[in-house]
Amino acid sequence: MLELAQSYSVDKWMEPAFRSLVKHHLSNPDTTNTMRLGLCRFAGLAKLRELILNTRLSLAFSGKQFFAKSMLCHDSNQCRRSWETIYWIRVSSKILHPDKPAPLEDIPSLVASWTDYPGICHLCYEASTQKVSSLPEATFVEEERLTRITVDKIMEMQKAFL
Ligand SMILES: [Zn+2]
Repeated sequence: MLELAQSYSVDKWMEPAFRSLVKHHLSNPDTTNTMRLGLCRFAGLAKLRELILNTRLSLAFSGKQFFAKSMLCHDSNQCRRSWETIYWIRVSSKILHPDKPAPLEDIPSLVASWTDYPGICHLCYEASTQKVSSLPEATFVEEERLTRITVDKIMEMQKAFL
């Protein structure tokens, strides 16, 4: 009954509240918003956070796939190893940051902004940066897509009660 009562007035505040909860730790949720969301939606939120974390993890561990060796490179194994290390330090650490994770769509610019890249030849760096920037946009907007799907699904569930 509480859920039913809530469903009449949640539309306006729910989406922003939901989005803000996605950004925060489930282990330390905003109690007021959690109570207002109700258990069912909170479970949906937990599932969404898991999906988003998986997306972030997979992109954090994609350094290897994002490397593109130049045909003219003399030691592409060395370049690949250095690329993986630098990607981990400068990109993965930012997208997995526990308090202020960088948005996934920032990955191409995070890669393109390296002013130095020890152990990587200029040609491999250029080829890899090019590879990352030419990846389909969908690779990096997964988080927004998942949030959209979940919010829509919850809104739908809510309408079914009315
Ligand atoms: Zn190289």
